[in-house]
Amino acid sequence: MASANSIPQPWNRIPHCYLCDSPLRCLSYTGRGYTYYGHGIILHKDCPHIKLNVRSDVLTWHWERVLASVRLTPEWRKLFYDHVRSEDEVLELRRRRDWCKEQIRRINKIYQRGTISDNEYDALIAQSERELASLGQPEHLDTIHVPTYCENLLTIWEVATPKERRGWIVQFLRGAYCNCATDTWVLLEPHSAFQVLFREAGFPEPEPGRFDVKALGAGLRRPERKRKATPEQVAEIKRLRKEQGLSLRQLGKRFSISHERVRQLLNETG
Ligand SMILES: [Zn+2]
Repeated sequence: MASANSIPQPWNRIPHCYLCDSPLRCLSYTGRGYTYYGHGIILHKDCPHIKLNVRSDVLTWHWERVLASVRLTPEWRKLFYDHVRSEDEVLELRRRRDWCKEQIRRINKIYQRGTISDNEYDALIAQSERELASLGQPEHLDTIHVPTYCENLLTIWEVATPKERRGWIVQFLRGAYCNCATDTWVLLEPHSAFQVLFREAGFPEPEPGRFDVKALGAGLRRPERKRKATPEQVAEIKRLRKEQGLSLRQLGKRFSISHERVRQLLNETG
């Protein structure tokens, strides 16, 4: 049987009841990829929501709507992309850079032995140097991806791993208050550095630093469990694969299906 520990719980110790301020704690794991949160420490015994539980996946969907409405300036894009960029990409880039440098060393060696002409040497070196230059520096990797990925915060969230998502929530939010009757957020309180993003997105700010995101949660309550890929989504997966060259893993994250399933869909549909 799956345990609650087998799936990262991005919201642990984050949500509070918006009526009574009580922290909500993880109560049970359903085996369908989400948990329920309910009043843990009860601050006000008369809270009318005391017996209600919140579904974590609905909170996540609402959060994703919030992220989609936060648009990013180029400076913010760089900041966020640097933050969530996976180590794998950096390692892959380093590997390719090392390979290019090794190639240049080999060409030099061959040239010193006199087995290739000056012209051949020049052409080979120029080719390797061009490739090396095109890879950029690992610390500037964001320039490769930013134009397609980072239109808003959701695009970055979608390619982040569960562990990165958890870290992101913790670093992003100082407080978060939800409505246990609707499973959605009411007020989000970002850390001061991020408040400007919420202000620019036009969320009402009933108290300084606290943003009312209720409107985006409308209609989100307890939808069916995670969907399978529809024909439209399959078409979109194929388009993104072809036009933006997203990896199977990135596509899986974006569509909430496994990367094996993405591979299967691409093979099935040709
Ligand atoms: Zn309460």
